[in-house]
This record gives sequence, structure tokens and C-alpha cells, in this order.
Amino acid sequence: MEPCDACGMPASARPPRERRHTRQLALVLAAVRDSGSEHPTAAHVHRRVRRTLPRVSLGTVYRNLERLVGEGTIAVADVGARPLRYDPVPSPHDHFVCRACGGIEDLPSVGPTLHLRRLRRAGHRIEAHATVVYGRCRRCGEER
Ligand SMILES: [Zn+2]
Ligand SMILES: [Zn+2]
Repeated sequence: MEPCDACGMPASARPPRERRHTRQLALVLAAVRDSGSEHPTAAHVHRRVRRTLPRVSLGTVYRNLERLVGEGTIAVADVGARPLRYDPVPSPHDHFVCRACGGIEDLPSVGPTLHLRRLRRAGHRIEAHATVVYGRCRRCGEER
């Protein structure tokens, strides 16, 4: 019997499709939430989920991440990073990005800035805004 691509379990031992998919989704969500403020990439999430489901593919992890982002359960951190960094906090907030280690720290959103006021005055419509502060984190700064 063919083992399942995602979990490696033989079909006879497999839970029904629906339940398996729910479990994958739950594990992907748990991996993002357990990462705290790490803001993991899909590869990081994949590594974590594989501890429980050794045969799960990166593609499956991606699909589940996309679904969670689509539902608004998690977010993509708006820091312009590639590969994308996933954020367990879906509500708007700002970020501090360390240029040395790539660490991302959450900052509370400080609300509209002079830029927004100026843009509105110029007739533009604001749909979202995020501030990213770049620098070296405390740990990386100390290494020099
Ligand atoms: Zn750093
Ligand atoms: Zn964040």
C-alpha cells in the first residue's frame, strides 16, 4: 500500500483525509505560534513540523501557511523580506529587523505618521502602513 506523501503513514493506518489535513494545519499553526517572535520562514516551519510528521513536504507546509494567512489567523510580516517571514500576530504592528542576524522583533504600531497625513492631503487613499526599523540587535551589536 502506498504511504501517504505528507505523513508517510500507510493508507491502512491513515486517519481519514479530512482529519489528516486538519492535523497538518494545526501543526503548521502551532509551529508558527511556538516560534514566538522569531517570524519564521516556510523552511523553518517545515523543519519544525517534520519533527512530528517526518514526511510532510515543503509544498504542504506552504499551502497550509497560505490558508492560515488567507483566514487571517497568522500574517506575513510586512518587512519586505524574501523568503517571506510568517507572523503569529495578525493584527497590525511594526517591526525591528536586525541586518546582521535577520532577527525580527515586534513593535507596537505607533499609528499615523506625518507621511500618512501628507499622503491623504495629496488625495491618496491609505490602505495599510507598516514601519520597519533596521539596525543591529543587542546581541549582534555586542559581538563587535
Ligand atoms: Zn542580530
Ligand atoms: Zn510581528
